[in-house]
Amino acid sequence: MKANILIVEDESIVAQDLQFILEDLGYNASETANSGELAIQKAAQINPDLILMDIRILGEIDGITTAQRILQQFDIPVVYLTAYADDDTIARAKLTSPYGYIIKPFEERELRTTIEIALYKHQQEKQLKENSQWLKTVLNSIGDGVIATDDQGTVIFLNPAAEELTGWSLKQAVGRKSAEVFQIVDATTRKTLADPVVKVLKTGETFHLPKDILLIKQDGQEICVNDSIAPIVSHQGIVPLDDSQGNLVGTVIIFRDVTEQRLAVQNLHRKAFYDSLTNLPNRDWFIERLTDAVERVKRNPDYLFAVLFLDLDRFKIINDSLGHPVGDKLLVAVAKRLLQAVRSFDTVARLGGDEFAIILESLHNPHESCKVAQRIQQELSAPFMIDGQEILTNCSIGIVLSSIDHQKIDDLMRDADIAMYRAKEQGRGCYEIFDTEMRLQVLATSRLENELRVAIAENQLIVHYQPIVSLPTQEITGFEALVRWQHPQKGLISPSEFIPLAEEMGLIITIDLWVLREACCQLKIWQEQDLYSSSITISVNLSSRHFRQPDCLDEIEKIIDEMKIEPSCIKLEITETTLLENTALAAAILAKIKALGIALSLDDFGTGYSSLSYLQQFPLDVLKIDRCFVRNLHQNTKNATIAKALIEIAHQLDLTVVAEGVETEAELAFLSQHSCDGIQGYFFSPPLGITELSKLEIEKVLLK
Ligand code: C2E
Ligand code: MG
Ligand code: MG
Repeated sequence: MKANILIVEDESIVAQDLQFILEDLGYNASETANSGELAIQKAAQINPDLILMDIRILGEIDGITTAQRILQQFDIPVVYLTAYADDDTIARAKLTSPYGYIIKPFEERELRTTIEIALYKHQQEKQLKENSQWLKTVLNSIGDGVIATDDQGTVIFLNPAAEELTGWSLKQAVGRKSAEVFQIVDATTRKTLADPVVKVLKTGETFHLPKDILLIKQDGQEICVNDSIAPIVSHQGIVPLDDSQGNLVGTVIIFRDVTEQRLAVQNLHRKAFYDSLTNLPNRDWFIERLTDAVERVKRNPDYLFAVLFLDLDRFKIINDSLGHPVGDKLLVAVAKRLLQAVRSFDTVARLGGDEFAIILESLHNPHESCKVAQRIQQELSAPFMIDGQEILTNCSIGIVLSSIDHQKIDDLMRDADIAMYRAKEQGRGCYEIFDTEMRLQVLATSRLENELRVAIAENQLIVHYQPIVSLPTQEITGFEALVRWQHPQKGLISPSEFIPLAEEMGLIITIDLWVLREACCQLKIWQEQDLYSSSITISVNLSSRHFRQPDCLDEIEKIIDEMKIEPSCIKLEITETTLLENTALAAAILAKIKALGIALSLDDFGTGYSSLSYLQQFPLDVLKIDRCFVRNLHQNTKNATIAKALIEIAHQLDLTVVAEGVETEAELAFLSQHSCDGIQGYFFSPPLGITELSKLEIEKVLLK
């Protein structure tokens, strides 16, 4: 397309001549103006590609002023074509940024070259302007912050997003060092990071900021920034830019606010891997860390770590008696103390309930793990103040040390658990290191567990009866039913060997109810045989496990009902632990038992807390003094004093006292002298099966 040229010339002959020349040169030069005013008007109308401007023209304003106005209003290049070449005129003309200055008379070649250059230059400038306008629009509309610096690291540009993100306005920021405007710290260490701009200026290479960076805004507020890169801009794009000499000309920082994403990711991570109560890592996270540790041992067999399993002592009792909110606060407080007892790179996790686990990394020797266990137990043994109450607890710790054979996470966890149970068995506040012997015993126990299930299903359990004799009358007033396991290979197994296991497995309830049914049957037989006194009673032991279920009485009631037994002939024996573990529930259940007309004995008194307050608090009928106090009563003054006092207190509370484990005549004499009501023990008879019992005809022997 032909370029349109407007000729501003007041001499019409010159104008016409120019028109011819320009048309000849291939331009469109149909329009002319003879005054400045007309020139401005025509410029507006036809928007020419170029104006050839004479300086001395008609009208109020000369060519230079006209050019100036045109420059202000339109984007049209002006070339002067004039006879004036004095310094003043040239100086004035220069101020209007002309695209050329041709002095008349001129040569056609000169005119053409000047016009061509002017058109080309203007075209280039237009392109550049459009580009920069485009760039400006892009920079203004993108969400990423962009900061540009010069080759000294001084800020020269900020886009609106960068203004928003840094809190610095373009005006404030320009001329400052980049590190002042783009101030970044490591999110974890909070250390100020080395200025990436300086680095880029030095290396000339694109630089990606490390993860977890905080940008400190002008007002001190902090935001997480990510993907922030500090490359150097060139006209081709975001690559290091060399100018013609190969020097860097500046840098550009591109960054974005990732606070929300970071929080969302952190939240997800928290939810998935942390325990919401204590804020400790949860089981899943613990297993991840344990997997890492096992991997380290695979790479380096000398690497030693330890896994500690912890279980709080008495936590269930605390939780049940003081309430779950207190239990929760205790767990939080325990978590804090555990963290204090280990090093920062060890892992403390809550596996659930009152179970915690720890990985002790990078140990020098196995003994270190014991020292940490001791430290933990020392930390936990100090009282906890929760809601104004002082709470005492401690923990049992099982330790397993890493070894090249221990490559399975499940095995490590299982063995730490075994060691913890072993520690628990030792009593409160103990720790144990796992060894293979333990695993063998656990295997034996699990075999026993299976056998016990079979035993119940195949009726291998039997009941033995031990007489309880009234001291004043020397008459058998009742029997205690005691279970035994007639094992097909191992023979008779004592209850102390399988009752704890049955309790753990939850099988004890079935066993106790079975014993009760058997005992009721036997009582019926005795009553029918009329061998003993008509008021003969049968005592049955009741595990504390029953008291964990509110409907525990239903089955008992059903059995007594079915057997048509007078409830007053039944005595249920419970231990102190039963009362201690579930105080509130226990009280309610005991009241119901009493309401049914069944009598209650407190068994093994003296082995547990020996709290006299229980004797008053609960509706008991019989107190059974444990055999540890009966032993050598006549010689052991301490036992004698206690036994005497117990008999007295029990009598004051209207309780009948039965002494357990009476083996000698001397013990019997002492108890008789101090008005004990009843006795039970080998002196009269061990627990016996029905056949032996009838053979002995024990009553006859005793009566005479
Ligand atoms: P326990 O209820 O205190 O029963 C008394 C225990 O003392 C019995 O042990 C009995 O054999 C033993 N014994 C009796 N007289 C003497 C004596 O003169 N000297 C000595 N050294 N011991 C004597 P056993 O039968 O081994 O039962 C142990 C414990 O197992 C019982 O203690 C009871 O707590 C529990 N148990 C037994 N049968 C059952 C049951 O059917 N259910 C429940 N839950 N527990 C039971
Ligand atoms: Mg008993
Ligand atoms: Mg007992």
